[in-house]
Amino acid sequence: MSRDESDVLVVGGGIVGLAVARALATGARPLSVRVLEREDGVGRGQTRGNSGVVHAGVYYAPGSLKARLCVEGARRLYEYCDHHAIPYQRCGKLIVAKDASELPALDELERRAGINGVPGMRRLAAEQIAEVEPHCVGVAALHSPHTGIVQFPAVAEAMAGEVRDAGGTVATGAGVEAVWTTADGIAVRHRSGQARARLAVFCAGLESDRMAVMAGGAPDPRIVPFRGAYLRLADEKADMVRGLIYPVPDPALPFLGVHLTRHMGGQVSLGPTALLVPRAGSLSWPGTWRMARRWWRTGVSELRHGVDRDGFAREAARYVPALAPADFEPWFAGRRAQALGRDGALVDDFLIHETPRALHVRNAPSPAATSSLAIADLIADRARTALGA
Ligand SMILES: Cc1cc2nc3c(=O)[nH]c(=O)nc-3n(C[C@H](O)[C@H](O)[C@H](O)COP(=O)(O)OP(=O)(O)OC[C@H]3O[C@@H](n4cnc5c(N)ncnc54)[C@H](O)[C@@H]3O)c2cc1C
Repeated sequence: MSRDESDVLVVGGGIVGLAVARALATGARPLSVRVLEREDGVGRGQTRGNSGVVHAGVYYAPGSLKARLCVEGARRLYEYCDHHAIPYQRCGKLIVAKDASELPALDELERRAGINGVPGMRRLAAEQIAEVEPHCVGVAALHSPHTGIVQFPAVAEAMAGEVRDAGGTVATGAGVEAVWTTADGIAVRHRSGQARARLAVFCAGLESDRMAVMAGGAPDPRIVPFRGAYLRLADEKADMVRGLIYPVPDPALPFLGVHLTRHMGGQVSLGPTALLVPRAGSLSWPGTWRMARRWWRTGVSELRHGVDRDGFAREAARYVPALAPADFEPWFAGRRAQALGRDGALVDDFLIHETPRALHVRNAPSPAATSSLAIADLIADRARTALGA
């Protein structure tokens, strides 16, 4: 095999692409793997600009890929961190119902958590909430003690190291610009050359729809980017939040709602917003208009917060009344790659498509960072089957 050839090309050096590369390059039946990442380092996309929460699998529809791969992925991720000495904290999460109207949705989350096999979940009455979070109030809550926090870029770096140690290549500054099939595989042109392989796996996050179309795949679904901005709680108040405080999510959205999150550095964030980011071509996609009409009618509050910082902070005070808007200042922002169907529905589950000689991760929103090791096994199995390896 020449220097530019490998068994598998992985496009995208985020946590999902690197987990896939690692799964293929290591183990009993290793394949030669080359990762091509557009940025100058790995883990710079969604893998960096996120809440850093190791989800336990509470929310997801039983039987979905998200439900199965999150529970399995969280368990595997903690083991991975132990093995590679990557710091994490199982700080626990509360999902808090503010009033009686939210109790049916809380009941449904409890039911889902039970079916999904989320470890250690328990229901708290109003007076028990303070035992977990002394400054938090609500009428009832779910406590997930195994939900935790980690720095996902550190996990991505460790995975890239494993790929290199196994003889694979992780090339940065190598944004893929063209894709075509060959007699016995697939080839790409990237910023610093060409590469060929028997199979490619595209894990390109915000660019996953464009990459799939380039490789001959369907334009449906399209990626709509949502900007997720965070505020930072003043350090002198950070001790008021021990772990993670989440609302009961809006069932109209695949997002988990604005939450208070402890980070590995000890800071506490409030966020994220969910502001639709205009992108070339998104206005000509019928799904964008269908989604906009639907949301306009429901007036989803998570979207309003994108333009109303005080309102965003007041939302936090509903859960921790001692917090005021003046306690928060702007912090970082990330971009979520959310797949949107032609019919205007946001794709809820993880989604993997195939084109000749390629697999495409078409929807890997939260909790894909938590689930990355489990997603990777699923994709690696399909890749090995396709290659007869
Ligand atoms: C605001 C926010 C909060 C979140 N919170 C959580 C959380 O708490 N817990 C959790 O589990 N998940 C969370 N998520 C989701 C999680 O971050 C993502 O699901 C996960 O990072 C997806 O990983 P990825 O590798 O698919 O994507 P990315 O990390 O975006 O990686 C894709 C990579 O592809 C590269 N790429 C794109 N185009 C090309 C090209 N043409 N050629 C080469 N490379 C290319 C990009 O540069 C990028 O590095 C959150 C996401 C956001 C945005």
